Amino acid sequence: MKPTYIVLIGAPGAGKGTQAAMLVEALGIPHISTGDMLREAVARGTSLGLLAKRYMDKGELVPDEVIVDMVMERLAQPDCQKGAILDGFPRTVYQAEAFEEALAREGKAIAVVPYIKVSMEKLLERLSGRWICRRCQAVYHMVYKPPKDDKKCDLCGGELYQREDDKPGTARHRLEVYFQQTMPLLNYYREKGLLREVDGEKSIPEVHQELMAVIQEVTPGAESSEG
Ligand code: ADP
Ligand code: AMP
Repeated sequence: MKPTYIVLIGAPGAGKGTQAAMLVEALGIPHISTGDMLREAVARGTSLGLLAKRYMDKGELVPDEVIVDMVMERLAQPDCQKGAILDGFPRTVYQAEAFEEALAREGKAIAVVPYIKVSMEKLLERLSGRWICRRCQAVYHMVYKPPKDDKKCDLCGGELYQREDDKPGTARHRLEVYFQQTMPLLNYYREKGLLREVDGEKSIPEVHQELMAVIQEVTPGAESSEG
């Protein structure tokens, strides 16, 4: 059977990572976050990390060529055989075209592109309240998804931290970069008939329900592994 690639699109803070973690449980395919991969490369001090840090600190996008190769290498890993949930990639039309071509060479294609829509005001509120586990990358929000124990991860006990690029100045710039460079992807995927809009302003479980509905509609084979 062909792999199921689900591409989550939405602005920084829309809830892609939160929903991807829930979809991993429901669908049994891995979550691939280019942001998490780059942050790990930065933490390890690899050559990719050193290059990426220069852009990430400013809230700019890392050069396209580096990203597409990184994702294709990750998708070639055995755990991605049945598919993957992509979060934060593609982020430019160049990346989308390069990704589509790379998949086509292997006889594969994207199944669906759910667009998690959230207003600018809410995005800023979500980014400013976001806390992340340093160890397992689990995502919390001090109001909407607070950890049981202040500053510790519910799942692994790791220390929680706030991303530097979530501070107001850089967060605003990242949203501008999103509007300029990533928003054009909405039309790109709409024209291909792949885009499905989901109301990202609802509660976390409600957004999950909507996402599962659009995924099951286009990939009847992708049955929930829940229960
Ligand atoms: P993204 O991966 O799109 O940048 P995240 O999943 O990290 O977004 O979510 C951003 C912040 O908003 C996090 O603090 C998360 O806990 C919170 N959040 C996610 N979805 C919702 C929601 N539906 N309602 C309220 N807060 C949410
Ligand atoms: P994220 O965790 O998705 O918010 O991404 C954090 C940062 O990593 C972004 O601001 C970019 O600098 C970089 N990044 C993540 N994904 C990509 C991508 N697909 N293309 C270019 N840069 C990216």
